[in-house]
Order: sequence, then C-alpha cells, then structure tokens
Amino acid sequence: MIESLAAICTGPETPLELAQVLVAPPRSGEVLIEIVSSGLCHTDLTALEGINASTVYPLIPGHEGVGRVVEVGTDVSSLRPGDHVIPLYGPECGTCAMCQSNRTNLCWSIKKTRDMGVMPDGTARFSRNGAVVHHFMGTSTLSRYTVVPEIALAKIRKDAPLDKICLFGCGVTTGVGAAMTHVKHGDKVAVFGLGGIGINIVQGARICGAQQIIGVDINPDKIDLGRYYGMTDFIDASDPSADAVTAIRDLTLGGVDVAFECSGILSVMRQAFESAVPGWGQAVLLGVEPAGSEMQFAPVGVRYGKSIHGSYFGGVKGRSGLAPLIDLFMEGEIELDAQITHRMPLQDVNRGFDLMRKGQSLRSIIDFE
Ligand SMILES: [Zn+2]
Ligand SMILES: [Zn+2]
Repeated sequence: MIESLAAICTGPETPLELAQVLVAPPRSGEVLIEIVSSGLCHTDLTALEGINASTVYPLIPGHEGVGRVVEVGTDVSSLRPGDHVIPLYGPECGTCAMCQSNRTNLCWSIKKTRDMGVMPDGTARFSRNGAVVHHFMGTSTLSRYTVVPEIALAKIRKDAPLDKICLFGCGVTTGVGAAMTHVKHGDKVAVFGLGGIGINIVQGARICGAQQIIGVDINPDKIDLGRYYGMTDFIDASDPSADAVTAIRDLTLGGVDVAFECSGILSVMRQAFESAVPGWGQAVLLGVEPAGSEMQFAPVGVRYGKSIHGSYFGGVKGRSGLAPLIDLFMEGEIELDAQITHRMPLQDVNRGFDLMRKGQSLRSIIDFE
C-alpha cells in the first residue's frame, strides 16, 4: 500500500475533497502509475454534478492524464517501470470482436466493471480510512498514484513533454482524431461548438487539408483562437437573427462535406445534419446529449445521400493509435500551447472546475510535479 494525495468526489454537487488515500498494489494484468499531469475535462464535471450514469461515489475523477509506470502486476508483459503512459478510458484488449474490427475503436471487454468504478476483478484499489474509494472511467488521474489495467494504457515516447501531452488522454485525440477519421483533403467543414473538442477538430481539419473550416459558437471571443487553429469563417450563433444552416449553405454554395457537432444540444445536432451537403455530406455527432434524448431529422436527407455518424475518442484505438498522434505533436503539426489556458496544483482543483463551469477556461492542467 502507498499513500497518495487525491481529489475525492463524495457525492453530487459537493466540492472535491483533497485527502490522502491508500493505493493497493497492482494485481494481475494491472499497473501502478505515478501521474505527472492531468487535464480537467467536462466529463469529470458530469460526475461532480451527478449526471453521469457510470459513477459510484465516493470516487476519484480524472481521465486526461499522463504518468510513469511505477510497478506492474503479474501477467503484465508490455510495460515496465519507468515507461511513460497515457491511461485510456477506452481500452484496447486486442482480442475482442471490436478490437479485431477496423470499423470501430470501441472495446467493451472491461466496460461493465469500469462503469461500476472497480478494476476488472471487481474490486477497487483505492481506500480511505478503511472504506472503498471508487475508480472513475477506469483512470482516476486526479490522484498522484492510480492503478489502471494494462490494456487501458498507451505507451508513449519518453521525449514528449508530460505537462502537455496529458491532453491526448481525451480532448485533443477526440477532436483531431474525429477530423482525421472523417475529413478529406479539399473538404468544406463546419464545427458547431468551439470548446476543447471543437477547437481540436478545427486543428485536425486543417491538418487534413480542408479548404474551408466554418466555426459556429455563441461566444465571439472564440474567433481569435479558432482562426489560430485554422478556422476560415465564423458564425455568431448568439445573434438571434443568425440562421447557421442558411449561413453555412451560403458560404459553401450548398452545404459542407462534414459537419461536426460538439455541444450535446439536440437542435444543434439537427443543424449539423441540415448543413451537410446533399449527396454525400456527413454529420458527425460528438456532444453528449441529456440521457434519454431522441433526435428528429428529415429522412429525405438520408435518402439523398447524407449520413449521420458518431465519434468516440476520435475513432482512435488507444493503445495502437495514440503514438502516431504524439509524433505529429512532436513534429509541430499538432499545437497544444494555445489551448492550455490555466495550470494549477491539485490543491486548486475546485478552482479549475469553477473556471470550467463559468466558461472561463479552455483547458486547465493539474500539475503534480
Ligand atoms: Zn474527456
Ligand atoms: Zn477489445
């Protein structure tokens, strides 16, 4: 057992508690990680607010981290102490039907136990005063030490700066990956919502050679950052007279090849579908809608060749697909600095989530060192 400073969520709508937890040694197929940095992501906030179905309290949030391997359990063959790793909320076991298919990056081999806040053997490695503290998303990166299954760890090159590449654990990979999965050279693209995901879709679309990248947001303050990452046009959706669909059709002479939606708002999802060009246009949905929601759209659009897709972690298989993206970052193709708006120690984690709630941060990073 080792002691670890961690942020603990004891229940919905309560501030995170900073406390020492005990972390049990890794068991078979598990790895003990020392977290170096962890970005704060909106999905953590859903656990704090009690609107995430896959939460068992008390829990340690965090799913956008990076760290070093401290100790491996039995039957761990691909990692050893000192390796740099990014924990994955979507594992890659390599042997299930999903992993063997090139049609999806999903792997549900340990989804059931992950959603129950425990390791694949059904128990948790965290405890506090003798009581269980649950894992969250299988990662719990807001703890100095965490235990993660080997199949949910991506090994990465050691020369990549750990205080930045934590963002590949969620936001950057989700955005850049989604663009790389769906955008072709010369495409016209729309991005609804220029937050942490949307801004990386803009960046990914630029890398893919999109000729036109239209950002849509209710906050015109996003214009400069959007343009920095490659946005060519902006539609201010806060203007009550704004009709984003008509504006996009006018700007593109008929619609975009790919429309990405990152807001989780059903009416915006429909706007994304409607702004896709007939014949082949795609709407790609990334925003998470309120549980139980249903979307309405005109089927004639599908009959005329439009399609609706979704994207999870950018369509990237975590263990095999993260290293090439980090190479792109190290070569200067992917940029991170402009999207890191705040840095703070774990002691200030509640301030980090407050900034997120108020929309005052794009990405805050918790530094453990
Ligand atoms: Zn996330
Ligand atoms: Zn699998």
